[in-house]
Amino acid sequence: MDDPLTPVDPLERTLHTARALVLADLASGEVAAADVVSMVEDSVVQRRWWVEQWPEGAAYVAGLVAQDVQDALLESHGRWPLCPVCGSGDPHALDVEPELGPDPHWVCHKAGVKVASVGSLGSATGGAPTS
Ligand SMILES: [Zn+2]
Repeated sequence: MDDPLTPVDPLERTLHTARALVLADLASGEVAAADVVSMVEDSVVQRRWWVEQWPEGAAYVAGLVAQDVQDALLESHGRWPLCPVCGSGDPHALDVEPELGPDPHWVCHKAGVKVASVGSLGSATGGAPTS
């Protein structure tokens, strides 16, 4: 494959994947506005530096970017992603688990359930419409 949009360097591919996963989750929550996309880019820039210092952490990058964006959104937009599992009670956000580990996923601590992998939130919330 010679797709210019698919970086071949492992670090670039890791960052590219992390960005794509978090953007997919943002899109499923319909919050992929321009300023939100720039939050993802800011996080990816910071995590690029981080993973250059610690290459073994490459598998953790997607979960970290998700948490960075979650933090940034909390200040500017509010809680994200809202829990799709609990139908009643106070709206609350999902958390990323593990906070620092491979295969990150969204969990609801209130219901104690794993909701979806990071990047697959759309399928758990009814899904972004397939156009
Ligand atoms: Zn919940």
